[in-house]
Amino acid sequence: MPMNAQGRPTASGSIDDAPRPTISGDRGLDHEEPLIFELGREGVAGVDIPEVQMSEERLGGLRRRGPIGLPGLSEPEVVRHYVRLSRMNYAIDAGLYPLGSCTMKHNPRLNEKLARLPGFADVHPLQPQQTVQGALQLISELMRWLTTLTGMPAVAMSPKAGAHGELCGLLTIRAALLARGDRRPRILVPSSAHGTNPATAALAGFTVDEVRATDDGHVDADALEDKLGPDVAAIMLTNPNTCGLFEPRIREMADAVHAIGGYFYCDGANFNAIAGRVRPGDLGVDAMHINLHKTFSTPHGGGGPGAGPVVLSAALAPYAPLPLLMHDGNELRLVEERGALPSELKPLGRMCAFHGQMGMFVRALAYVASHGADGIRQASEDAVLSANYILASLKDAMSAPYPGPCMHEALFDDSFLEGTGVTTLDFAKAMIDEGYHPMTIYFPLVVHGAMLIEPTESESKESLDRFIHVLRVLTEEAKAGKRERFEGAPKFAPRRRLDETAAARKPILRWRPPPLPQAAE
Ligand SMILES: *Cc1c(COP(=O)(O)O)cnc(C)c1O
Repeated sequence: MPMNAQGRPTASGSIDDAPRPTISGDRGLDHEEPLIFELGREGVAGVDIPEVQMSEERLGGLRRRGPIGLPGLSEPEVVRHYVRLSRMNYAIDAGLYPLGSCTMKHNPRLNEKLARLPGFADVHPLQPQQTVQGALQLISELMRWLTTLTGMPAVAMSPKAGAHGELCGLLTIRAALLARGDRRPRILVPSSAHGTNPATAALAGFTVDEVRATDDGHVDADALEDKLGPDVAAIMLTNPNTCGLFEPRIREMADAVHAIGGYFYCDGANFNAIAGRVRPGDLGVDAMHINLHKTFSTPHGGGGPGAGPVVLSAALAPYAPLPLLMHDGNELRLVEERGALPSELKPLGRMCAFHGQMGMFVRALAYVASHGADGIRQASEDAVLSANYILASLKDAMSAPYPGPCMHEALFDDSFLEGTGVTTLDFAKAMIDEGYHPMTIYFPLVVHGAMLIEPTESESKESLDRFIHVLRVLTEEAKAGKRERFEGAPKFAPRRRLDETAAARKPILRWRPPPLPQAAE
């Protein structure tokens, strides 16, 4: 296949190995769009900038010698470029997004409208606090909802993602342990955990000790209790867990870790299954992050932005990171300095500059307030119902590793593909040709060839039925030995199957100008 200087297939060979069947290289609305650097021409700009008369002497020899390498395009060319790229994207606004664990929820337009109000969108974090009392009140109101829904007394708002919240939680636990002169090194993490859990524990300076799962997909509570001892700082559990199951022995595990003087960190990424029904505080949780961008419908994908507030038990609350939002008479105040605090508060430091992700706070509160307590509960119930509808509808065709019912995610393994020559990856790629983003695959690791499907509460029964029909037919075709649909899929996407190993091992992260033409021999 012909490649350009960036290692990208050139237009004449990009969709199929053979040249594209159209004159332009485009196929209908599917445009073959080069990089913006490849499109740019020297001397072109969106606006006319007058020639600047600048004398050499004033720049003291610092005058730039070469071009700075920005692509030159007119305004309509820039707009067209990004619109074309956006049309290659898959989004929750375009179709059902079954990615498990990530909770790709519908983002109500009301949230967006409120987040764009100038009083929220245009505030600056360095503005005097008297001028942003409304914004602080909004944060305070969201904190009230998060602590109420979780049954926990305190919440740290500044962490910027789930993983950042995990780090905040473990650093809080470490601060609480150090305050009593305790340097426990070990954190227990189940084998089904999300990869961020052991990574966070390691980053916070702990050693990670894995706890196995039982054959029915739960954390092995007996194995966990065997591992408990005076050197265990905390357990990190996800509930409902990443197999889509509620941990029935969670209270018992919480009591056991408290009995040896450790803490219970809960990964709250799956809060969408239980919000309004179960309060983590009642389960003995000491710290839990809430991915606002999962449970509370703030948009995510493509790396951001996220928000991962961490709710804390009374034992951990004094160590919450700065800044702290405090009531000062009729005013709200973000306290940024340790010295300004009463002596019983011992904040661990800061997690980031400023106070957190304001735009996400506005969206999350808009979501919560527009649903109300009963609506939040119904959203959780509907999410669980949708997942069980998928599980029950496909259990006879695909293979479910654990007997149902499930929480808000339906988990399948690849045993139904055994002997077909079709892998979980092939199956997922064939879904792209059917207009669906694939489900989460090969996670959790405890299930062979895992396919984790999370439909969320906002899909209609018709939309779920259509999705189920597609998966059912794909399953039948795989079993009938019709490998054509799977081999090399996706066939109708702007790009065919990528070499993911090469992309990870030899990434091309920078655009390099093509080599200058060689002088004629
Ligand atoms: C998404 C997720 C995380 C990490 O959250 P981010 O916001 O992506 O950093 C951690 N654990 C589980 C189970 C998750 O699904």
